[in-house]
Amino acid sequence: MKAILCRVTVPRYLFSQTLGRLSDRFLLGLAGPLALQEMPLPPLLTPRYVRVRTTLTGICGSDVGLLRGRESYSLDPFFTFPSVLGHEAVGVVAETGAEASRFRPGDRVALSPYLGCLDRGTAPPCRVCAEGRSSSCEKQFEGPLAPGLVGMNRDLPGTWAEYFAVPETLLEPIPESVPDEEAVLCDPLVCALHGLLRAAPRPGETVLVIGAGTIGLCLIAGIRAMAFPARVLVQSRYAFQSELATKLGADEILPSGAAGLRRLAEITSARVLKPRLGPPVLEGGVDVAYDCVGSPASLDQALRVVRTGGRVMMIGAIGPAGGADLAPLWFREITLLGAYGGGTEEIQGERLSTLRLALKLMGQKKLNLRPLLTHQFPLSRFQEALRIALHHPRHQSVKVALKPAQG
Ligand SMILES: [Zn+2]
Ligand SMILES: [Zn+2]
Repeated sequence: MKAILCRVTVPRYLFSQTLGRLSDRFLLGLAGPLALQEMPLPPLLTPRYVRVRTTLTGICGSDVGLLRGRESYSLDPFFTFPSVLGHEAVGVVAETGAEASRFRPGDRVALSPYLGCLDRGTAPPCRVCAEGRSSSCEKQFEGPLAPGLVGMNRDLPGTWAEYFAVPETLLEPIPESVPDEEAVLCDPLVCALHGLLRAAPRPGETVLVIGAGTIGLCLIAGIRAMAFPARVLVQSRYAFQSELATKLGADEILPSGAAGLRRLAEITSARVLKPRLGPPVLEGGVDVAYDCVGSPASLDQALRVVRTGGRVMMIGAIGPAGGADLAPLWFREITLLGAYGGGTEEIQGERLSTLRLALKLMGQKKLNLRPLLTHQFPLSRFQEALRIALHHPRHQSVKVALKPAQG
């Protein structure tokens, strides 16, 4: 089968970091870390594995971050290479292991790429998995599989391939009414919902979503789909993102720069304070800021506009945050939270996986993420696909996906 293999080595990593910013040619060319290769079919590693023929597989911000050398060094031990890249996927079951009982060939399935104790075969579950946060499993360095999620794991090739094989526990059936073109967004929706539920708006609260890329847009849709009675303000950089944010249920898109801060102060009855040096800060502000960008600048902004005692939720993949002023965290007793991947959520007494929740909301038509899938390419044109994902403002791309079945 055809697959896109990623070899991240320290020299290549540093190479990407320095040269990748200058030109895509280095990043996506022969000297870069990616190659489209002919490979053997991924094996069913245990009788509980299922092999899936990939229909659609998304390019995640973390894939792009990895190629650009923007991942944090501290995360390096948690991802293992070489690996076939790709962790957002929908497909059709092609073959099931002897003890895999949940699916039959022909079933349409969506993937949750995060391996917990149950999936790794490291029973009994660690305390983190027992809490329902299997994406941050503490036994990643035990058992037969290398650390890392599917697609950034040297033992579990990812989904930028014609087939992938995973434990059946990582798969969920896609409701019939949900097209592949929407279901392929289930992983970003999972990340957004997990972050949302860990910092859920309380009735009457005003929240700010910073960044209206895939995660930010999924978050806005999630807040509306789950009917949180909150006022949703959005900080978006580009007009095409603002348009989608409004369509998905944002109450107001803030203007950029100082005007945005003034408007935010007006809405929340906050006071704009101007330090003698540096950017302005609010007294008062929003109850929750969801940072869906994950840069020092977005974290800095979040901390400046959250009220005393408010919450900042980091959903975007953040690296070193040098330059962010953390004084408000201390001085205004802000709670800083993070959310990675998905797990098990509890909603009105019902416990279900974040993936099942995401697919349920899609199936119930509580949201429509189909407009987020802006570009699709066959596997053979992955370089073009990545270029469009890398330069999303120029191409007005939100989610770019590969269609391995098309060659
Ligand atoms: Zn991802
Ligand atoms: Zn675990």
